[in-house]
Amino acid sequence: MKNSANIKFLSLSQNESFARNAVAAFALCLNPSLGELSDIKTAVSEAVTNCIIHGYGMPEEGRLDSRLAEGNSRIYITCTTKGKELQVEIRDYGVGIADIKKAMEPLYTSKPELERSGMGFAFMEAFMDQLFVESTPGKGTCVRMIKNLADTKMQSVWE
Ligand code: ATP
Ligand code: MG
Repeated sequence: MKNSANIKFLSLSQNESFARNAVAAFALCLNPSLGELSDIKTAVSEAVTNCIIHGYGMPEEGRLDSRLAEGNSRIYITCTTKGKELQVEIRDYGVGIADIKKAMEPLYTSKPELERSGMGFAFMEAFMDQLFVESTPGKGTCVRMIKNLADTKMQSVWE
């Protein structure tokens, strides 16, 4: 059965936990294992954190994106299921990425001063089955991740 959900929220660090748990709650319709749920949460957390920190910029950096100051910087998540496949699309309309290939290299970070480790994309790739990144400088970034869940049937008390 096909299913989908849209989630829209302000780019604030306190919403990262909401986002990862909301996607995990949606994924429950596919009856995932605890391990699969944990993988999905980790990947969503990395992508959403990137939107907040890199896409729109953190207030404490003093380089607040004007849309954030106006309360207009939003992150959009679309979750879709097709059979046992979960697709999660996470989009921001922030600064965008000039060199996607370089950004996706493990250990590359544009913010070493913030003690970022440059492993976010590597984790998304490791914990999901497919990862696609589209970005336009000045326009924003869209990360699409796909996870194929194991085809296990829920254990029934009647079996
Ligand atoms: P870590 O995730 O380990 O804390 P990081 O965020 O720098 O560090 P990645 O998540 O791998 O590492 O991202 C690599 C780089 O890609 C970032 O440093 C940033 O320059 C760029 N980037 C990632 N996501 C976005 C985004 N949504 N908007 C703009 N730039 C981004
Ligand atoms: Mg990151």
